[in-house]
Amino acid sequence: MSKLHFESESELLAYKAWRTLALEPPVDLDRVAAKLNLIVEYREFVPQIDGLYLRLPGAPPVIAINSSYLKPLERRRFTLAHEIGHHLLAGRISSTERLFFLDTESRRRTLLERACDRFAAVLLMPEEIVRSYFNELESNPGKRVAIMAGRFGVSRWAMRRRLRELGLVTWRRRVL
Ligand SMILES: [Zn+2]
Repeated sequence: MSKLHFESESELLAYKAWRTLALEPPVDLDRVAAKLNLIVEYREFVPQIDGLYLRLPGAPPVIAINSSYLKPLERRRFTLAHEIGHHLLAGRISSTERLFFLDTESRRRTLLERACDRFAAVLLMPEEIVRSYFNELESNPGKRVAIMAGRFGVSRWAMRRRLRELGLVTWRRRVL
């Protein structure tokens, strides 16, 4: 599957969730997970682990999120959205197959991992609303990112990254 195809599939899945669940920012991720019959556990793991997704035949899929105080709420939310991405992108894989993804701070940036991050970013920060907030807060450029991050329930870092993705702010340093 080409990179472009994979990333656009994650975007489609995220927008489908918005439409079918009539979501509003900040996205209620527990509701999204519940609709998908996912079990979400919060456990304290070693700091290197952000979260994991486990699917075994004949049992509801399980997502576990590291509840360590070292993981701020916004980061846990992004991880949960990322794990929901693993679930949805695995939709085409036979349900008799075991699936396990462990997301650590140093995980490899594979095509699949990037697609899950993309899903998380679009689910938490859909383009249309990002653009509308961005315009609305035009007169407050100093606080704009912080206000928007608060409304979406994401970190400022994730917010800035999304604004760059959408071409609303320019990359400060471009890696060639
Ligand atoms: Zn992952």
